[in-house]
Amino acid sequence: MAEHAPQRLTLLGATGSIGQSTLDVVARHPQRFQVFALSAQRQDDKLLAQCLQFAPRYAVMVDEEAAARLAAGLRAAGSATEVLSGAKALESIAAAPEADMVMAAIVGAAGLRPTLAAARAGKKVLLANKEALVLSGALFMDAVAASGATLLPIDSEHNAVFQSLPAGYAREPLAAGVRRVLLTASGGPFRAAAPEALAAVTPEQACAHPNWVMGRKISVDSATMMNKGLEVIEAHWLFGVPAEMIEVVIHRQSVIHSMVEYADGSVIAQLGNPDMRTPIAHAMAWPERIDAGVRSLDLFEIARLDFERPDLRRFPCLGLAFEALRAGGAAPAVLNAANEEAVAAFLERRIGFLDIARVITACLERSATLTVDSLEAVFAADACGREWARSEIRQRQAAR
Ligand code: NAD
Ligand code: MG
Repeated sequence: MAEHAPQRLTLLGATGSIGQSTLDVVARHPQRFQVFALSAQRQDDKLLAQCLQFAPRYAVMVDEEAAARLAAGLRAAGSATEVLSGAKALESIAAAPEADMVMAAIVGAAGLRPTLAAARAGKKVLLANKEALVLSGALFMDAVAASGATLLPIDSEHNAVFQSLPAGYAREPLAAGVRRVLLTASGGPFRAAAPEALAAVTPEQACAHPNWVMGRKISVDSATMMNKGLEVIEAHWLFGVPAEMIEVVIHRQSVIHSMVEYADGSVIAQLGNPDMRTPIAHAMAWPERIDAGVRSLDLFEIARLDFERPDLRRFPCLGLAFEALRAGGAAPAVLNAANEEAVAAFLERRIGFLDIARVITACLERSATLTVDSLEAVFAADACGREWARSEIRQRQAAR
C-alpha cells in the first residue's frame, strides 16, 4: 500500500473500454487513487453509475441533454458531484490544479484538445488516445517538453516498448543502443481470411476481435490494421524512432506486446495476458508496480508463439500509414481524419470494408498541399481530410 497521499485522476472517456478498465484498477487501490473528474460523450446512465461508485468532484458530459439527465440522476441520489457540459469543460478538468494525472481515453481526434491541455498543464498524462498524437505529433511532444509533463503510453505495444527501453530513455535511439522497435500485431479477425472474402465483411465481423475486447472504432482499425499503422506513427513520436527503425510483426497470440532490439543483438520483450489493465496499472503506478487483477501468464497453456510478416496487399492501410509518416507534414493528420470518416461510414454500412483504404488513399494524395505549423493548421488539415473523405464516401455510396 502507498504511504503517499492519493493521486487524483481525471478520466477522459470514462464510459469506454479503456475508461472502464481504468476504473477497475482504481477500485482495487482506493488508498492510492482518487477520482477527481470523469467524462463521457453521451452515455449518461453509465456515467451516473460510475459517479455514484467513485464520487468524483466533477462529471463532464459533452452532450447537453445527457448532461441534464445526469445532473437530475445525481441530485435524486443525493450525490455531491457537479455536472459540467460541453467540449470546453473537458479542457478544464484536464488542466485543473487538483488533478495529478489524466487518463486520455477519448477515441479519435475529439480527444486532442483536452489531452493537449493536460500536457500543457504539466500533468502525468496517460495516453490511450493515439489519434491525438498522430494528428499533432510535433506540437504535442513540444508541449510535453515545455511543461515538463510526464507522458506514459497506455497502448499495450507502446507500454511494452517503454518497459523494454532503459530507465530515463530520452527519445534518442542511437544513444541508447537501440537498433529496432518491433511492434507486434494480432492481425485482427481477418489475418487468415481469403482476400476475396474481405469485400463482403460486415461491421459485426470486423468488430469481433480474436484477442481483445475494445471500442468499435479501434476494433475496425485492428481489422484493417490501420490500428497498427497509427501505432507506428505513435511510436515514432513517443520514442523518437524513424520509420526505418520500426518493424511490424504479426504475432497472433498477443502475448508478446512488443520488443526492442539493441545494437548487441539483445531483444527485450514485454509479455502478458492480453488485458489492458496491465498497461493501465503499470502507467498509473509507475515507477512502482501494483496488482491489476490480471491472471498470471500460463506459458504451458499458450505452448507456442508464432510470427509472420504482414502482407501489405491484404492490409493496405498499414502501408498507407508508413507512407504518411515518411511524407510527414499534414499527411498523418489527413490519414487519421480520412480513416475516422471512412470507419464511421463503414460502421453505418455506407461503404464496404475495402473502401476504407481506397478513401484514405484518395485523401492522402491531396495532403501535400497542406502544412501543419500550428494547432490551428492541424485542425484545418483534420477538417480538410474529413471533407475530402466525405466526398469520396458519397461517390462510393452512389456507386454501390
Ligand atoms: P470506446 O469507444 O470504448 O470509448 C470512447 C470513450 O470516449 C467513451 O467514454 C466516449 O463517451 C468518449 N467519447 C467518444 N467521442 C467523444 C467526443 N467526441 N467527445 C468526448 N468524448 C468522446 O473506445 P476505447 O476502445 O476505450 O478507446 C479509447 C482510446 O484508447 C482510443 O483512442 C483507442 O485507440 C485507444 N486504445 C484502446 C484500446 C482498447 O483496448 N480499447 C487499446 C489501446 C488503445
Ligand atoms: Mg495497441
